[in-house]
Formats: sequence, C-alpha cells, structure tokens
Amino acid sequence: MARPRQTSIVQIPPRVKGFIPFAYYGKVREPIKLNLEEYEAIRLLDYEDLSQTQAAEFMDISRPTLTRIYDRARKKMALVLTEAHQLLIEGGKALLEGEWYECSKCRCRFNNPQSKPVAACIVCDNPDVTRLNSCMQ
Ligand SMILES: [Zn+2]
Repeated sequence: MARPRQTSIVQIPPRVKGFIPFAYYGKVREPIKLNLEEYEAIRLLDYEDLSQTQAAEFMDISRPTLTRIYDRARKKMALVLTEAHQLLIEGGKALLEGEWYECSKCRCRFNNPQSKPVAACIVCDNPDVTRLNSCMQ
C-alpha cells in the first residue's frame, strides 16, 4: 500500500504560474507540471541555499521526503531546459501560510496576518493588489 503523501508548507508563493520557451520554433510540447512542493524545494535549496535538513524543517516534512520531492523537481527542470517544454507551476499537496498579495506597481509580495482583506500595497500604497492564494491550488 502506498504511503499517504505528506502535506508540505510553502512559505512564499511563486511569482508566476509558469514559463514558455523563448525563441523556440519546434513542435509545441506538452507542459511539464511542477507542483508547489517541488517549486518550494528548489526555492529553498537552490535559491535560498539552505541545507536539506533546514529546508525539510521549513516545509514541515521529513528529510527523505524532501529528497524525493527535490529529485522529482530537478528531473522535471532538466526536461524543461533540454527539451524546450513549457512549465506550469500548479497543484501538489502544499499549504500556503497566510494570505499573500502582489502589487501591480512595485511587484512587492506581502502576506496579511489579519482577517480583513488588504486594500492597498504596504510599500507604495497602490490599490491594485492581487490576492495570490486564489490562483494556487
Ligand atoms: Zn506596491
């Protein structure tokens, strides 16, 4: 029997929903789906330079689980880069902590610990902010 998958914690949502190959004129390939925990594993290990033990702690999963997630993520990224696939960041078994917003003007991303909706950007006071959690799955 397969073990149930652990739910991992994603601290900061991705800025985009995906990527499209630039100046690629070959046959369009099906998009590769990177789920939220795979995105977070790459962000913590390769972008933030955390150790696997630290990243597993941040994501509230075991280190072996993190290793499996990271291996899957790297294989998917290798396919995207070498075979010119589109990349979609979606799905997965992850919790986004708090409500997250992005400002359309300064691109600042911030979360909201209060229960009432955010009216404007906390940095530049621009009222055009997008709630990011609504585009997560
Ligand atoms: Zn702003």
